[in-house]
Amino acid sequence: MKESCIPLPPIDHPDGVTTIDAAYVRPGFAASHLLVENGYAAFIDTGTTLSVPLLLKVLEEKRITPEKVTHVMPTHVHLDHAGGAGALLQEFPNAVLVVHSRGARHLIDPAKLIAGTIAVYGEENTRKLYGTIIPVPEERIIIAEDESRLDFHGRSLLLLDTPGHARHHYSVIDERSNTLFSGDNFGISYREFDNENGAFIFPTTTPVQFDPEAMQKTLKRLLSYKLQAVYLTHFGRVTNVEKLGQDLLGCLDQLVEMALDLKQQGRAEQTQLAAGVRTIFKDRLRSHNCQLPEKFQDELLVHDYQLNAQGIGVWLERKV
Ligand SMILES: [Zn+2]
Repeated sequence: MKESCIPLPPIDHPDGVTTIDAAYVRPGFAASHLLVENGYAAFIDTGTTLSVPLLLKVLEEKRITPEKVTHVMPTHVHLDHAGGAGALLQEFPNAVLVVHSRGARHLIDPAKLIAGTIAVYGEENTRKLYGTIIPVPEERIIIAEDESRLDFHGRSLLLLDTPGHARHHYSVIDERSNTLFSGDNFGISYREFDNENGAFIFPTTTPVQFDPEAMQKTLKRLLSYKLQAVYLTHFGRVTNVEKLGQDLLGCLDQLVEMALDLKQQGRAEQTQLAAGVRTIFKDRLRSHNCQLPEKFQDELLVHDYQLNAQGIGVWLERKV
């Protein structure tokens, strides 16, 4: 695990959206999205506490004062999406935090999130990866209700309850540009895999609440909005949304089939599941005509082989 990571420069998109590299794990791995309207700003996903100075720097470059930030919107409470929420709110006196009802208490009292992370990464690595996690004051929280609309200074944001990756996950549709801020609900797509066939995308089945049926439902619901583009936390803007949605649904089916086969054979342990995830991804990368050296492909994806396998394993156990 690297101790530091030099982030990519911020990427400006149409409609007042900027992808900011959160400097988590490696460059181009995790983002926070800045949305600006009429001089006001919102952050959708926060990165970790260690990402906060990077977000502040982009605001400064855009000459937006901290008082003009009115919304901080972690799509779910996994720490690469919400870890920086408390630290950001300390910087922005006028901001509220918009969070799923199932996630709110974990940000008010992050003890459980921290303990869970230490259990996976150990104490030292947890500090290196996430810094100090700061609680969010309860009175600054707004709950993201399904199909509610948030008036972001004249711009309508539609909030959707979107389980599948996690039960505490909501998504944001900017109704003006018809684009989606998906958090982890519309998979992961690293820009390194972009080629003449477009983006390479796959579902993220992280522990401990991965639910393939809910994920499938959520994907179909999101696709029903005929979106122009999706802003992924991992990583940045993708278009050709219908095609990518079908890729995600197809890959999800393969992952489930692989897992159930292994289980039937009594071989559904972590190593086998991770190998299964890798085989499926490799296969799909070949169809994508990926020309990156195999070793580099594995470097980019090894984290996801492992995390996806863990989440699938937890689901299989729960499913008994
Ligand atoms: Zn997540």
